[in-house]
Amino acid sequence: MAGIDDVEQIESSSGDPSIKVVVVGDDSIGKSCFVTRYVNEEFDPFQPVTIGSYFLTKTVKHSGTVSKLQIWDTVGHERYYRLVDSYCQQAKGILVLFDLTNVNSFLNVHNLWITKGSPSCHKVLVGCKCDLVDARQVSEDMIKEFTTSQGLGYFETSAKFGVNINEAFLEIYKRIISSS
Ligand code: GDP
Ligand code: MG
Repeated sequence: MAGIDDVEQIESSSGDPSIKVVVVGDDSIGKSCFVTRYVNEEFDPFQPVTIGSYFLTKTVKHSGTVSKLQIWDTVGHERYYRLVDSYCQQAKGILVLFDLTNVNSFLNVHNLWITKGSPSCHKVLVGCKCDLVDARQVSEDMIKEFTTSQGLGYFETSAKFGVNINEAFLEIYKRIISSS
C-alpha cells in the first residue's frame, strides 16, 4: 500500500511506467471490496473504512501486451473531493462505481463522478453488488439510457461472488492501450 507521496517518489526515481487507474464513487458502495477482489482475489466483507487514498498494483496482460496497473482506491466522502480530483487528473482510466441497491449513488454518477478526470481519460461504469437482486433500485433501462448517451462501457459486478470484476478491469485496460 502506498500514498500519493510514495507515488511521486517512485515516478521520479524510476520513471515507473505503470498505468494509473482510479476507482471512484459514493461512500460504502463497494469500491474497496471491488479492488481487493481484483488484486487479491478475495472478498473481505469487513473492509476497513478507506482513509485518504492508496493504491495497489496488479500485472495485466492482453493480446501480448503486459502492463502493471496502479489501482487507486479512493474515498467518496465530500471532504476528500479535491484529493480525488487530483488523482483523477493524473489517471489514464477511471472506473466509475455505483451501488445497484442505492439509487442515490447512481444519481451522483451523473452529478459528480462522471465529470472527473482529463478529457482524454477513459471511463467504464460499474454497477456493484449485483448479487443483491431483491434490493436492486437501479433499473436496466435507467442504466442503458445513461451509458448510451455517454458512450460508456458498463459491467454489473459482485465482489462477493467474483462476478465481472476481471472483465471490468480488462475493458478499461483495453481502452487505454488501444488509444496509446
Ligand atoms: P467503499 O466505501 O465504497 O469502499 O465500500 P466497501 O468496499 O467498504 O463496501 C461497503 C459494504 O458493502 C461492505 O459492508 C461490504 O461488505 C459490502 N459489499 C461490497 N461489495 C459487495 C458485493 O459485491 N455484494 C454484497 N452483497 N455486498 C458487498
Ligand atoms: Mg473504501
